[in-house]
Amino acid sequence: MRLVLLGPPGAGKGTQAAAVRDLYGVPHISTGDMLRSAIAAGTPVGLKAKVIVDAGNLVPDDIMAEMVRERITAPDARPGYLLDGYPRNVTQATTLEAILLVLGQKLDHVVHLSLDDAEIVKRLSGRRTCASCGTPCHVTAAPPRVAGRCDNCGGTLVQREDDREEIIGRRLEVYRERTAPVVEFYRQLGLLREVDASGPVAEVRQRLEAALGQGAHGTKP
Ligand code: ADP
Ligand code: ADP
Repeated sequence: MRLVLLGPPGAGKGTQAAAVRDLYGVPHISTGDMLRSAIAAGTPVGLKAKVIVDAGNLVPDDIMAEMVRERITAPDARPGYLLDGYPRNVTQATTLEAILLVLGQKLDHVVHLSLDDAEIVKRLSGRRTCASCGTPCHVTAAPPRVAGRCDNCGGTLVQREDDREEIIGRRLEVYRERTAPVVEFYRQLGLLREVDASGPVAEVRQRLEAALGQGAHGTKP
């Protein structure tokens, strides 16, 4: 199963990815998490990416293409994968099609999680992210069991630089200008599944599973 999860920052892609990963047993590949790891490790890519990511802008397409090509050809991605955060503009979507063609692979579905701006700002401004494993939580909507500690791995929870209010507006602008056309790109290809990302996490998960044909009465595609 090869899936792409699209949606504005804060829509719940990372949160819902855990459910999809468990459902299909495929790795969750988040380009944002990969970039943050590279930044924390101070790799050449990380050094180049830091100022771009912190400002809410997009890292150059050639860097991202190489990162994704390498990751989806790793052994654990053989049965499939869930791509989160890539592609983020139409050039990246076209590049991904070209990479998949060479690999003899096809995407099964592209899920678009949609959410209005007011809710996005609430979710992003209250988000805390595990510095070790990248799992998100929320100060009010999904608080951690132990304050400051990740429920998943016990790592330290931090506020991402780009989740500060002054950067959130820029990220929404980038989403509207660069990423929203990717939704249309996949609609044209007939791969798009629309999911309303408002409401509690469990409700969104149910809608997502239904959209993938995995609801209570669904069958495995
Ligand atoms: P969110 O989950 O809030 O949508 P991500 O974790 O996916 O954010 O991405 C954080 C930042 O990492 C982006 O604002 C951008 O700077 C960079 N980034 C992630 N994926 C890509 C990509 N495919 N192309 C360019 N930049 C990216
Ligand atoms: P994305 O990966 O799309 O940027 P996240 O999964 O990191 O989004 O979610 C953004 C923030 O919103 C996190 O703090 C997360 O805990 C919270 N969140 C996710 N889904 C919901 C939901 N359905 N209701 C309320 N808060 C949510």
